[in-house]
Amino acid sequence: MHEASIIAELLRIASDECIKNGFSKIDSIKVVVGRATGVMTDALLFAFNILKEDTPAKEASLIIEEVPVRGVCKDCGNEFESNENYLIFECPRCGSFSVILLSGKELNITEMEVSK
Ligand SMILES: [Zn+2]
Repeated sequence: MHEASIIAELLRIASDECIKNGFSKIDSIKVVVGRATGVMTDALLFAFNILKEDTPAKEASLIIEEVPVRGVCKDCGNEFESNENYLIFECPRCGSFSVILLSGKELNITEMEVSK
């Protein structure tokens, strides 16, 4: 499961940061997930609730902020935004696949609350 390996990595980074800064407990982790990543947020939460056991984040909540896909077409200049969870980008105006992605590939921790 793709989401489980993402969560495992995220928990590793968060735990390292927490301990390195002298804290012992993670209260919450906020992540941004771009819709162009193809990651399912339900699967992320599911994996998080299983994998957080035996880490400093075992009582933490995961807050997911989804970022819509935004792109601009190289052929007609059309700028568009989509909440579809898709991986192939087609200009909704002219059908071109020459699309520059402006956002939607994000997948990282933006905030973390920790305590002693
Ligand atoms: Zn276009």
